[in-house]
Amino acid sequence: MEINRNFDNLVPNYLFADVARKTNEYAAAHPEKEIIRLGIGDVTLPLSSVVVDAMQKGCEDLRYQESFKGYPEYEGYDFVRQAAADYYKSFGVSVSPDEIFISDGAKSDCGNIGDIFSRDNTVLIPDPVYPVYVDANIMAGRKIVYAASSAENHFLAMPDKHIHADIIYLCSPNNPTGAAYNAEQLKEWVSYALENDAVILYDAAYEAFIQDDLPRSIFSIDGARECAIELCSLSKTAGFTGVRCGYTVIPKELKRNGHSLHDLWYRRQATKFNGVSWAVQCGAAAVFSPEGQRQCLDNIHYYRQNARILSELLDSLGFYYTGGKNSPYIWLQCPNHMDSWTFFDFLLDKAAVVGTPGSGFGECGQGYFRMTSFNSHEKTLEAAQRIKTLFS
Ligand code: PLP
Repeated sequence: MEINRNFDNLVPNYLFADVARKTNEYAAAHPEKEIIRLGIGDVTLPLSSVVVDAMQKGCEDLRYQESFKGYPEYEGYDFVRQAAADYYKSFGVSVSPDEIFISDGAKSDCGNIGDIFSRDNTVLIPDPVYPVYVDANIMAGRKIVYAASSAENHFLAMPDKHIHADIIYLCSPNNPTGAAYNAEQLKEWVSYALENDAVILYDAAYEAFIQDDLPRSIFSIDGARECAIELCSLSKTAGFTGVRCGYTVIPKELKRNGHSLHDLWYRRQATKFNGVSWAVQCGAAAVFSPEGQRQCLDNIHYYRQNARILSELLDSLGFYYTGGKNSPYIWLQCPNHMDSWTFFDFLLDKAAVVGTPGSGFGECGQGYFRMTSFNSHEKTLEAAQRIKTLFS
């Protein structure tokens, strides 16, 4: 017996543990200081009432013989898939309900989708990025090449025609940089994927934060249906980080080696996944309802205001940053050429404000820092004031 030796190749990532340890040490040494956490990567507002009502009703259904539900469909209930397809339609993208797979979240799908691809494929992953793509592919033993991002390309890596890739992860709006691709840029990625016979895994977990005229879905781009899979989540759209629900879209015409990727994923899910619970799917359908959309957007608006406070702060200080407009994340260049951890220590020590060192998201994140908009208005304002005082 041998364990999966690919795990030996994982780089220990203590980012959030180190952030927590340093913050706790500081709190213990300075009990008089009020620490403000702008590193929060989780939602903080409660679920919308229309969603809770639908989930409660879903639970009630389970109380009675005539409405009881057992195992759900592997791919989700039809009414939820229809509601998700209607949601796509609301921003002008046409996907069929039977191309949508309801899941327990985008993180699982981002990792599990690898099951339908050969381990001999080369994977292209932007740097910096959500670490799950890298670790899942290291575990699978795939060769990874990185697409570097920097201030030069505004943290939006573009394809390099000299590099071949079979699988491409894109994340827009991006975690951690908050940067979002425009249609022209996505067209380049789609052309590159088609030329390389590659498949794009497009993580649109933050699409609901888009305000500018930018694509909410890769499927708004011609040709994407022949080369892309989209992974979505209700976590940040509707506060489902604890409830757990997402959806993955695989167009029927997406084929490789004569096989439908949709059918392979169905087979994979039917083998290893037993679906999302009835009550949660009732809540998910409520998110897509007109009232659900209104209530969820109220919460998103709250976070957007925090992002605006932080963007205005950085504008006033003349710091370079990305994000903040179409994303809950603000990604800033550390001032005075500090590296990411030096700036973390500096900000904690001088302002009692906590963020996330960019170097934890990839080599290209060195010298950058992520702040999030998930704290309260009051605390975000207070943090902005403290940072302003530090640098004015
Ligand atoms: N994709 C990105 C880019 C994320 O930042 C996150 C969560 O932070 C996820 C996916 C995970 O989504 P879920 O909560 O649906 O698993």
